Amino acid sequence: MRKPLVVGNWKMNGLRATNRPLLDSVREGVEAGVAAEVAVCPPFVYLADAASALQGSAVSWGAQNLSQHEAGAYTGEVAPSMLRDLGCRFVIVGHSERRTLYGETDSLVAEKVIAAQGAELTPILCVGESLEEREQDVTEQVVKRQLDAVLERIGVSALSKAVIAYEPIWAIGTGRTATPEQAQEVHGLIRSHVAAQSSSVAEELLILYGGSVKGNNATQLLSMPDIDGGLIGGASLNAEEFLTICQAA
Ligand code: 13P
Repeated sequence: MRKPLVVGNWKMNGLRATNRPLLDSVREGVEAGVAAEVAVCPPFVYLADAASALQGSAVSWGAQNLSQHEAGAYTGEVAPSMLRDLGCRFVIVGHSERRTLYGETDSLVAEKVIAAQGAELTPILCVGESLEEREQDVTEQVVKRQLDAVLERIGVSALSKAVIAYEPIWAIGTGRTATPEQAQEVHGLIRSHVAAQSSSVAEELLILYGGSVKGNNATQLLSMPDIDGGLIGGASLNAEEFLTICQAA
């Protein structure tokens, strides 16, 4: 049985004054009764604050990105070991905003997955098509290409120490959620693509959906058979709404 996972991706939002009450409310709400695993991914500079607010609680934390390098002269970058040092359990890798705004290629994303696993972080590998690609009916090819770029490097068994997030770009921050059926179709595709190499890895693999998940659409999305949780952007900045989503998982 796959235990659902809900991860809040704060993106570049938050300040200390508002982070602490948000973290405290999420912690209290999760401990009051949420069956799913829950994690939050604040900006790098607030990870230490998240660690002190969440230490010993049922809520884990992670980062939104990492360097593919271990250490050295890489001004402005953050090493995998530093994230581990701050108690991170997860790291988001290959988010579409990193791919489109910062030029991250499939091969760089694969290197970052390797780097994350090398530091015993669980990478949350993001895949997903643009609106143009969906309209050209190449969603399947795009998602498989993004997955294969990583699978070819790490091998299918290493996928047992990773999480996949399907995030159609056209649904991110737009309020335009994929329908539960649209999302399920791609999640099913991802799982069967992995199953072609290892049915046991595919069976255990957590595949999260991301893209305008809100309190009022989470139940429908998260009840689909191959949707194992959510990667939540905007709605993770509001404790009440985020907790509603966590409860739906
Ligand atoms: P929104 O939930 O704001 O659409 O963002 C989704 C996302 O990109 C999570 O990583």
